[in-house]
Amino acid sequence: MMPRRNFPKALFLGITLITAFNILLILYRGTVQSLILGKLHKDLPFPLAEWKGVIKKLSHLEMDFQDLKDTVELAKNQLENTNNTLKQMLKSMECKTKQKLHRKLFPNSELFRKWGEDLSEDQQRMAQDLFEKFGYNVYLSNQLPLNRTILDTRNSRCLQKTYPSQLPSLGVILIFMNEALSVIQRAITSIINRTPSQVLKEIILVDDFSSNGELKIPLNEKIAFYNQKYPGLLKLIRHTERKGLAESRNTGWQAATADVVAILDAHIEVNIGWAEPILARIQEDHTVIVSPVFDKILFDTFDLQKYALAVDGFNWELWCRYDSLPQAWIDLHDATAPVRSPSIMGILAADRLFLGKIGGLDGEMLVYGGENVELSLRVWQCGGKIEVLPCTRIAHIERHHKPYAADLGTVLKRNALRVAEIWMDEYKHMVYMAWNVPLQHSGIDYGDVSSRKALREKLKCKSFDWYLKNVYPILKPIPSIVGYGRMKNALDESICLDQGPIPGNTPIMYSCHSFSSQNVYYHLTGQFYVGALIAEINTEDRCLTDPGEGENPTLEPCVKAAQKGLHIYWDFKQEKAVINKSTKRCLEIKKNSAGIYVLVLQTCTTQVWKIQHTIKNWGSN
Ligand code: UDP
Ligand code: MN
Repeated sequence: MMPRRNFPKALFLGITLITAFNILLILYRGTVQSLILGKLHKDLPFPLAEWKGVIKKLSHLEMDFQDLKDTVELAKNQLENTNNTLKQMLKSMECKTKQKLHRKLFPNSELFRKWGEDLSEDQQRMAQDLFEKFGYNVYLSNQLPLNRTILDTRNSRCLQKTYPSQLPSLGVILIFMNEALSVIQRAITSIINRTPSQVLKEIILVDDFSSNGELKIPLNEKIAFYNQKYPGLLKLIRHTERKGLAESRNTGWQAATADVVAILDAHIEVNIGWAEPILARIQEDHTVIVSPVFDKILFDTFDLQKYALAVDGFNWELWCRYDSLPQAWIDLHDATAPVRSPSIMGILAADRLFLGKIGGLDGEMLVYGGENVELSLRVWQCGGKIEVLPCTRIAHIERHHKPYAADLGTVLKRNALRVAEIWMDEYKHMVYMAWNVPLQHSGIDYGDVSSRKALREKLKCKSFDWYLKNVYPILKPIPSIVGYGRMKNALDESICLDQGPIPGNTPIMYSCHSFSSQNVYYHLTGQFYVGALIAEINTEDRCLTDPGEGENPTLEPCVKAAQKGLHIYWDFKQEKAVINKSTKRCLEIKKNSAGIYVLVLQTCTTQVWKIQHTIKNWGSN
């Protein structure tokens, strides 16, 4: 872009060139054109040969004119650019003036990090209030078109795919609890606009006992309006008490009549061509449960961020995570082929009757979480399969915070134990250890699991061992763990061994708390894992290490540390010293100059340690 100070020069150059060009054009037209037409032939003042010279010169001139014309064109463009630059500068000056006018009322709010610079104080207050209530930018959503265009994030090969002309019918279920009306309407609009009308049989809205006034009469009116245009398409079911997301999904399923159901969050926008791959695949095999590919709608700007295709997995806390694509799929060299997946993330599509036959969702899952893994294990262990369909893409708002639960951890833990108890057989202790819960007398009420266990019997489902070996070999059980939980030194039981700052590999002593950074796992082999349990093939947990010199222990990825010959093996028994097997130094604590206990490696004194939970009376003698 042209700098501003060149503007008068460019203007002058432009005007001069345009004038020169016009004079020469008049000359050229008046003389040369007449010659060509032969009009002045008889009055020629010079012999023809001289005229030829003139013509030659004139044709040179013509080329020069062309050059001139190009130069003028260039100057014109430069002028336009300058103009645009000026306009932009003016605009940014305007913004800055506005910024100066409007004080930032919420400088620490995540909502205003990239957005909302030109909002007045009242507008900021309103936007922040809505943001706190919903966890996303409702103020902006209310201004965006309901039928906005979003980036088509599909692989280009998806566009060449063809599907059978006869496909099963589709029912879409949207569940919500206090979502913004404009967000729900945008979801409905995207479904209507991006699903072939001949397959879209119904859209079922399930209100999980929202309190938001906007979702009462105004929502009823909107539904009536849609149904005027598309008779009978929308249905609304309202819970009269809060039932949580699993039961809300079941309510939607019960009301559905279509061949295939897609059970989605209410803060989504389906992308182009999302439905056809689902319907075609389920038509081919009704035991497939489909997980779509998510893209991320940013909670503040509502911009779309494309996610790479991945496999849906989970860790031992049963938190969802993305895993890499299987080699067998890569070898197919078909970017549109279904990807076998150990789990779903949450939203899904399924053959309606098949989903019913295998027991829908576990309605005893409270509030949120766990239900996706429960369904996934049941599907695989009881004769179905899960696939991610690369051409089915759904944009989903990733909220900043969840409006319905201040402390999700408690309910996630409870729901995870429920999954472990029903489905995980002898591996269930991995979930207990990941959540740092004692195996016996956990004090956590995970509800009655008898009907789900009976369902498992009825469906003659396979074991979790089969699932691990055949479906999810990346998830690694660790049978060698014999002690886990907080690790305390008898000198001061208010402080715990802690992984220390991240990034960094120096463990510390820190006031005890309940976060996983203080999880410690002691193995029969002598290793100590410190920090949240990973237990995944190809990703390493970190081991407590004596570097052999200095007085500070470190944390190193266990496999690498073992390969490097670092000292990661320790002798330890409950309420005994922690002694490195090769250096013979002890892990101890000592007060620094500020009187605070720090972790050290030193010649053993008499210090002893205690780990919170032990397995099968290990280390008690
Ligand atoms: N939801 C619900 N009842 C609840 C909690 C959640 O109906 O008690 C709905 C929520 O409105 C959303 C869906 O369940 O449409 C999934 O919840 P969320 O989007 O918070 O989960 P995430 O997508 O973050 O995993
Ligand atoms: Mn969601």
